[in-house]
Amino acid sequence: MSVAPWYRHLHWQVAAALALGIAMGLIGGETAAGQLGWLGTLFVRLLRMIVVPLVFASIVSGVVSAGGGSAMGRLFSKTLGYYLLTSMLAIVTGLVAVNLIKPGVGASFEGVASGTIPELTTPNSVLDLVIAIVPENVVAAAATGDMLALIFFSIVLGVAITTLPEAPRQRLVDFFDAVFQAMMRLTQGVIVFLPIGVFALITRLVGESGLDSFLALGLYMVTIVAGLSVHLFITLPLVLILLGGISPRIHFANMFDALMMAFSTSSSAATLPLTMQNVEQKAGVSNRVSSFVLPLGATVNMDGTALYECAGVIFITQALGVDLGLGQQMLVVFTALLASIGTAAIPSAGLVMIFIILGALNLRGPEVDVIVAALIAVDRPLDMLRTATNVFSDSCGAAIIARSEGETNVDVSPR
Ligand code: ASP
Repeated sequence: MSVAPWYRHLHWQVAAALALGIAMGLIGGETAAGQLGWLGTLFVRLLRMIVVPLVFASIVSGVVSAGGGSAMGRLFSKTLGYYLLTSMLAIVTGLVAVNLIKPGVGASFEGVASGTIPELTTPNSVLDLVIAIVPENVVAAAATGDMLALIFFSIVLGVAITTLPEAPRQRLVDFFDAVFQAMMRLTQGVIVFLPIGVFALITRLVGESGLDSFLALGLYMVTIVAGLSVHLFITLPLVLILLGGISPRIHFANMFDALMMAFSTSSSAATLPLTMQNVEQKAGVSNRVSSFVLPLGATVNMDGTALYECAGVIFITQALGVDLGLGQQMLVVFTALLASIGTAAIPSAGLVMIFIILGALNLRGPEVDVIVAALIAVDRPLDMLRTATNVFSDSCGAAIIARSEGETNVDVSPR
């Protein structure tokens, strides 16, 4: 039993920081946002600094400790099976929500501020997405934060290491394990500043956003928030219970810090160190499972984004007055899945990927650009919620897979 007073617990500090940030943003407006924003930027940079070596070391050591061969194949297929299942559930939820509420029918974009489309490089087609997984230059992939390519290299390197003779293999295993532990230690140090980071990020967010655009696109936002809430608070808890025999209440409590971080930063990648820390030290998942499942999940398993891609695209077609037949809706479902896999784990990346799906439907041109620019203006709160959904789904996957591997210490109590 812990005897520390409540205010010494990180999750209470973070919750208080969130409330204070909202209050400060409302009262201080753009001035407060300008004066405090740098603190948030600094905090996110501290975490992002850890991500590349963390992903590299944790996947290599995860693959090696899974032992290569059939044990590794089993872990891999469970992980992919889980990702596919929850992403598809999310997409179907988005599909149902947008077809029921029909927010795009008759939507007007007058008076909506248009955001500038962030310059993220998006692959031109689904095939490009697949080819880009193999890096031409692994150092360049790491330097540009191309996570999918980095993960591909880490997995094949891990597999190669398992086939080496005992002496060089052990040396490399020890090395990567030590790098991984050092990265987790660094994370622990940065987490101390989590309340300050959350406070500054939320102050900036609330201080900078105008309300007009949000009101004009209200129904669209309600649709996305409803879909994400169903997935986060109903579907994933059911999956936890049915596949893992895990209490959703305990799992939510154990993941609280990571969820707050995802919500404040809109970046699964920046949240990854914290997600790993929570999953291992609070949910009690072994390093063998978490170091394999989570970095992969942060990059390819994005339930919230998948739901959003599907609902967002259909919203746009509704607004354009284009009627999608069943075949085309299926094409949206399929490309939404691929687009969510290819989405970078950074703010607004999901919105930009919408262009790929629109391209698959042959929808291009200035009219489309105007709508997407309007969606960007209101994207931040939706991005916060979909990032939290993305992170939560990864953590559920780690807990469920750990249980299925016979781990008995997973989510037995809130820690
Ligand atoms: N921001 C999301 C993430 O990092 C991706 C997205 O924009 O949907 O998970």
